[in-house]
Amino acid sequence: MTHALIIGGGIGGAVTAMALKKAGVASTVYEAYPTGADDVGAFLSIMSNGLDGLRAIDAHQPVLDNSFPANCVEFVAGSGKQLGAVPIGGQAGVLGPRTIKRAALYRVLHDEVARRGIEIEHGKRFTGAVTTSRDRVVAYFSDGSRAEGDLLVGADGIYSTTRRVIAAAAPVPRYLGMTTVCGYAANSPATTPPGIYRMVYGRRAFFGYTTAPDGETWWFASIPSPERSRDELAATTSEQWRQRTVDLLTGDKAGTVDIVHATSQGIVGSSAYDIASTPVWHAGNMVLLGDAAHAASPSAGHGASMAIEDGVVLAQCLRDLPNTEQAFQKFEQLRRERVERLVVTSAKMTGRAIPGPVGRMIRDALLPMMLRKGPRNTSAWLTEYHIEWDTQVGLIGAADVA
Ligand SMILES: Cc1cc2nc3c(=O)[nH]c(=O)nc-3n(C[C@H](O)[C@H](O)[C@H](O)COP(=O)(O)OP(=O)(O)OC[C@H]3O[C@@H](n4cnc5c(N)ncnc54)[C@H](O)[C@@H]3O)c2cc1C
Repeated sequence: MTHALIIGGGIGGAVTAMALKKAGVASTVYEAYPTGADDVGAFLSIMSNGLDGLRAIDAHQPVLDNSFPANCVEFVAGSGKQLGAVPIGGQAGVLGPRTIKRAALYRVLHDEVARRGIEIEHGKRFTGAVTTSRDRVVAYFSDGSRAEGDLLVGADGIYSTTRRVIAAAAPVPRYLGMTTVCGYAANSPATTPPGIYRMVYGRRAFFGYTTAPDGETWWFASIPSPERSRDELAATTSEQWRQRTVDLLTGDKAGTVDIVHATSQGIVGSSAYDIASTPVWHAGNMVLLGDAAHAASPSAGHGASMAIEDGVVLAQCLRDLPNTEQAFQKFEQLRRERVERLVVTSAKMTGRAIPGPVGRMIRDALLPMMLRKGPRNTSAWLTEYHIEWDTQVGLIGAADVA
């Protein structure tokens, strides 16, 4: 049986392992951290298309059980003026978007991987790989160990080592000038009805929040800031994040400062990066997926869903095409246009999050009119993507899935 080495036990790695098993390919997952990635304090949304990808491999139920709905977004100006609302999912027959803590998502995916008899080795930091003369691949780890397989999948996220192993000149992530700060307020004075996200266009920060079924308010703030190293981010205390966020929200009249004040601890921050395009996705028997291949800024809330789609489509390609090279080519053909379009879309959203005074006036005048007319479903190309597991990949053209 073909055996894959999967580098990275994040969202894409775990999903790929399950999808490969369903496709008849064995795998082992190698994860650098003892439990999961380093930014586990945050939360994220899994969109309808991400849940559809999980459903294709029968892995959606544990995610549904540990998340809550995200059906609608309300927009509010920093002045407190209501700008309108837009639904973000819930079409008939489609699993609606969900909100989940990153740590919970990693846990349920890892539990599901283990339940299916797939091994995850923790504390294995991948450092490099070579292809042997027998067309096998050997992966090396920082603890001195190695592993051999028939192919290697780089699902090691935005700072991917695999990306550099596949192509030494691979692009590095581009900083987008924003830090995402995030926290959980147990006794927030401002809450939302179930399934609602309230997005506040503050004058100096973009703020979003939603209230979990237990009454806790989950919030994030996108704040403009100079680039900070991962060590600097990790060394920043919850209190320092609170102070920076409060400073930028002060003066807005949408209740956001009070939410941050109601957060006693555990406020974390991470920098917003993307990679516009990675020219080389595969070489020999190694391939990239998820953020390792195409990281988008967090603004569109779609990176996790894309990593899920990638894992399922890659497994279909390996199932249906006669050899690894053809499978990787088909995978890239099916995925590149879609994921790079997301990167562009999400970067534009990041750039528009905090406009100047004129941009604010135009937005506050136009947005309510646009939303009153009935929202154009401009994200249908993202959310209505559907994967039919049993469809033979070789029969699909790129145009059919764009
Ligand atoms: C603040 C923030 C908010 C976000 N919000 C959303 C959202 O709401 N919705 C959404 O869809 N997406 C969101 N995203 C994006 C989303 O988190 C990513 O797109 C998604 O996690 C990508 O999955 P992945 O498996 O490719 O990478 P990851 O989930 O990052 O997993 C990569 C894994 O590889 C491991 N790894 C790294 N290097 C090595 C190595 N050398 N050896 C072994 N293992 C290694 C890491 O520890 C990690 O576990 C957000 C991102 C951020 C930063």
